[in-house]
Amino acid sequence: PVRVRFAPSPTGQLHLGGLRTALYNYLLARKTNGQFLLRIEDTDQTRYVPGAVEKLMASLSWAGIVPDEGPEIGGPHSPYYQSERTQLYLDRANQLIKDGHAYRCFCSTERLSSIREQRKQQGHVLAYDKHCSHLTGKQIQSHLESRVPFTVRHNVPLEGSTTMEDLVHGRVQFQHHVLDDTILLKSDGFPTYHLANVVDDHAMGITHVLRGEEWLPSTPKHLLLYKAFGWTAPVFGHLPLLLNENRAKLSKRSGHVHVEHYIDQGYLPEAVNNFVALLGWHPGQSQEEIMDMNDLVRLFDLNHLHRAAAVVDPMKLGWINKQHLLRRAESPDGLASLVDDLAPLVQQRLDKSASSQYLGQVISTVKDRIRVLKDIPDLCSYFFVPPDYTRPEAETLKRKLKQNVWQLVVEDPDTVLKPMQQLSFEEPGSIKDWIHTLSEDHGVKANHLMMVLRYIMTGTSVGAGVADTMHVLGKPICTSRLQNFVK
Ligand code: GLU
Repeated sequence: PVRVRFAPSPTGQLHLGGLRTALYNYLLARKTNGQFLLRIEDTDQTRYVPGAVEKLMASLSWAGIVPDEGPEIGGPHSPYYQSERTQLYLDRANQLIKDGHAYRCFCSTERLSSIREQRKQQGHVLAYDKHCSHLTGKQIQSHLESRVPFTVRHNVPLEGSTTMEDLVHGRVQFQHHVLDDTILLKSDGFPTYHLANVVDDHAMGITHVLRGEEWLPSTPKHLLLYKAFGWTAPVFGHLPLLLNENRAKLSKRSGHVHVEHYIDQGYLPEAVNNFVALLGWHPGQSQEEIMDMNDLVRLFDLNHLHRAAAVVDPMKLGWINKQHLLRRAESPDGLASLVDDLAPLVQQRLDKSASSQYLGQVISTVKDRIRVLKDIPDLCSYFFVPPDYTRPEAETLKRKLKQNVWQLVVEDPDTVLKPMQQLSFEEPGSIKDWIHTLSEDHGVKANHLMMVLRYIMTGTSVGAGVADTMHVLGKPICTSRLQNFVK
């Protein structure tokens, strides 16, 4: 069975690239009835960020990416924190030493930096000169007895090459003479990424590794380790880099890379998943663009991974989110879930008592005009609190609107206010009809009348149809807004 894993280092928040990696592995597992594992690669204590694991897991669970085995749920290969598996790496490192695939390096940091400098000037590709691979048994013994600190280095062959079939890049060949004797175990007994990653992928029965392209140069080292251990390596696929709109590497500085940002902005998890799914994969023949998790599981395959760097386009995410929002709003359950998401945003900031039914009506009315739910409290606060006519935009708008229709509505309130009080607000249609009749009776343009009414009800010039808006606001609110405005 397919066994895949997401193996983040807890050095910060989950970013879009990490989410994509997790998602692809998860989809592959779901698709093949395999297992998806979460493993925390926390052996670099210097880069550890407190709280990072909890945040990573929270972001994954928000996205609906639930591991079959991992830190919180456990599993047959517990523990899933590498920092709790150090004995295993130590044993494996000793095995490599015994078999000649690794050696203890007693070189001081001073020696290492001076030879690195020297070799660089001489034009060597490798920073280390394999000095300690030539130590005699006696020399090693005496260093150990004098407790000279040591690391364990991978004894990479100087000749030959390693070839692999990458799921994304096809056949890739790596020459050994450019690979340094990487440190596998540090002097504090902690493994480096390379050793721990290989040992655990084997121990946990991982069959496929989908990970970011930045790990491609490490892969020959990993393959050599698999070979040294006599293990079968998993199949690898290296996913393309993510770029920002200027085609520079997506970084913290160059844009919004953290999943938490999108959570805070109110994007829907299915939209963010849909968006990242398309950064390195496409659904082949099907041409579908809007896909929820079930669609993705159905359509995902390893044949349509692509290699070209993917540009993260926030406009596209906005568009995708909108499509998912419309999709949800179509079904009663979906709408109810949107109401649940919107309720805290509105209740904290605007109106504590806004009912679910009212929130549902608001969503249905404005859904074509928003990208994210948060646009509702941001752009349509008038559904919950009186419009603020003192905002600079509102003041400017008011100046523009002052023509004869203004006179009609504002300076002669009885012509509008009185009939409005008689009007039924049950149907938007009757409000619309009323506006048209009124405009004919007074010889003004209906759309001018609508603009002024919209202004009084909302303080803006944009939004859903004014009759729909007034219908949702209801008669008591509309009449009191008009009364307050004209007095
Ligand atoms: N710990 C590595 C990371 O943070 C895992 C890389 C891999 O998947 O092998 O990305």
